[in-house]
Amino acid sequence: MAIVTAIETSPGARRRLALANPATLDPIGEIEVADAQDARAAVERARKAQLDWSSLPIEERSRFVIRGLEALLARQDEIIETVMRETGKPKTEALQMEVYAVCDAMNFYAKHAAKILKPQSRRLHGLLRFMKKLRIVYRPLGVVGVISPWNGPFVLAMNPTIQALMAGNAVILKPSEVTPFSGQLAADIFSDAGLPDGLFQVLSGDGETGAALCCAGVDKIAFTGSVETGRRVAVACAEQLIPCTLELGGKDAMIVCEDAHLDYAAAGAVGGALMNTGQYCCGTERVYVVDSLADAFVEKVVERVAALRQGSEGEFDVGAIFWPRQLEIIEEHMADARARGARILTGGRRNPALKGLFYEPTVVVDVNHDMKLMREETFGPILPIMRVQDEEEALRLANDSVYGLGGNVWTRDSRKGMNLAERMHTGSVCINDMTMTYGVQEAPFGGRRESGVGQVNGETGLRGYCHAEPILIDRRGGKMSTQRYPYNRKADQGLQKFMKVLWGTRWGRRLS
Ligand code: NAD
Repeated sequence: MAIVTAIETSPGARRRLALANPATLDPIGEIEVADAQDARAAVERARKAQLDWSSLPIEERSRFVIRGLEALLARQDEIIETVMRETGKPKTEALQMEVYAVCDAMNFYAKHAAKILKPQSRRLHGLLRFMKKLRIVYRPLGVVGVISPWNGPFVLAMNPTIQALMAGNAVILKPSEVTPFSGQLAADIFSDAGLPDGLFQVLSGDGETGAALCCAGVDKIAFTGSVETGRRVAVACAEQLIPCTLELGGKDAMIVCEDAHLDYAAAGAVGGALMNTGQYCCGTERVYVVDSLADAFVEKVVERVAALRQGSEGEFDVGAIFWPRQLEIIEEHMADARARGARILTGGRRNPALKGLFYEPTVVVDVNHDMKLMREETFGPILPIMRVQDEEEALRLANDSVYGLGGNVWTRDSRKGMNLAERMHTGSVCINDMTMTYGVQEAPFGGRRESGVGQVNGETGLRGYCHAEPILIDRRGGKMSTQRYPYNRKADQGLQKFMKVLWGTRWGRRLS
C-alpha cells in the first residue's frame, strides 16, 4: 500500500518514482528523481536569470505576480483536483488552505513588497548624526532553494516562492516526493504569467534531491518539513555557510479556560484537530480543559466529531492520511495510549468502510504526558483531551513539550487570554481560534524550541529573502579622514574627558 514506489530503471539512468492517490490507491503518475548534477545546472540557469530580475523595479515584479494570480484563478479547478488527487483532502480544504490562501499571499506581496523593501533612511543617534547619514537597502540574496512538505503541497511551495521572487531572487523548488504534481503546478502558474525562463524552476525528487539542492550553490534554503530533516538541512547549510529558515513540526496545545464559550471552544477543538485530517503543522494535538467545564466540553466535542463524514467522493469533511508512514505513526501513538489507559470515545481505528489510507476522526480522554500521543507529533485526525485542575496547570502542561510552534487559548476574558498567550512557549498563539497565524500575511511565523529556526511571512519573512545592506554616507564628503593621523596623547585625553561628560552625566546621556 505504498503511495510512493521506486520503479526499476537501467543502471546509470535517473531513479524514477511511481505515485498513487492515498484515498483511492489508484496510480496518479511518475516522476524522475533529479540528482546533484541537475541541481547544480538549475542553480546556474537561475543565477543568470536572476541578474535581470533583480534589476527590475519591484512594481514590475509585482505585475508578474499579479499575472500569476490571474493564471491561478483561471486554473483553480485543476489545482484543487491535483491537490485532492495527491493528498485525498476534501475539496473545501484544497480550496481554502491552498488556493484561497495563495491568492491572498500573491495579492498581499504584490501590493506591499515595494513599501516593505523600500530603501530606508535611518536617523542616527547621538553625535554620529551630525557626521553621518545611514541608508538601508534591501538587496536580494540571489538563488533561493525552497524545500516543501506534502501536507500543504501548493501553499507551502508557493508562499516562500512568491516572497523570494518579489524580493528579487530566483527560486528553485524541491516539492515533496509525495506531492510533486502540485509543486509542478506552481511552476506552470508562473510560466503562464510569462516569468522569465530559469527564474523559477522545479526539481522533482526525494530526499536525495533536497540534499543536493542544499549543496548546489544556492544562497539560502527555505525549508518546511519535519524536525529530523530540518536538522540535516541545518547541518548542510552550515557547511555551505548559507542561511536557512526551518519551519518544522509541532504539538500545539489548546487551553480551555473556565469561562470559555463552550460551543465555540468545542467547535474550535474539532476544527483545530481535524482540519487537513490533522496533518497540519499548527494542528491542535493536545487539549487541556479545566475540570469544571470538562464533562460538557467532551460531550460536545464527541457529538461534533461523530457527525463528520469521512470519504473521498462527493461531499465529505475528513479526508485520507496522505501516506502510509504517517498512518503507521498514528497507529503507534494510539496503541501506546491505549496500553497506558487512554479511553477512546469515538473513532480509534482505520476506517473499515474505505479502501484507501483512512483513520477515523478520534476523540481520546484519560490521557497523560507519559503517552506518545501527548509528547510526539501525531499528525493525524486525533483529538486527545486532558482534564486539568485550573488554567495554571493547563499552561504548565502546554509548555511541557520539546515543540513550540503554535497554541490557542479559549476564554471570554481578553486580559486572561493575553496573559496566558504571553506565557506560552510557542512561536505564535491564537485567542479564541484554532492556530491560523500562517494564513495571516502580516504575522511573522516561525516555531521555537524544536519547531523551527527563523521566521517566514510578513515584513520579517520578505526581508529575510534579502540582505539588509547599510550604506553609511559621510556628511562632510570625507573631510574627517584627514584628521585621523597622527595619533597623539592629547587628543586621547580630550576624548576621555569628553566621554566623561557625555556618558557620565544624566544630561549628557540624554543628548547622546
Ligand atoms: P520531511 O522532512 O519528510 O520532508 C520535507 C521535504 O524535505 C521533502 O520535500 C523531502 O523530500 C525533503 N527532504 C528529505 N530529506 C532531505 C534532506 N536530507 N535534505 C533536504 N531535503 C530533504 O517532512 P514531511 O513529512 O514532508 O512533512 C511533514 C512535516 O512538516 C511535519 O512534521 C509538519 O509538522 C511539518 N510542517 C511544518 C510546517 C511549519 O510551517 N512549521 C508546515 C507544514 C509542515
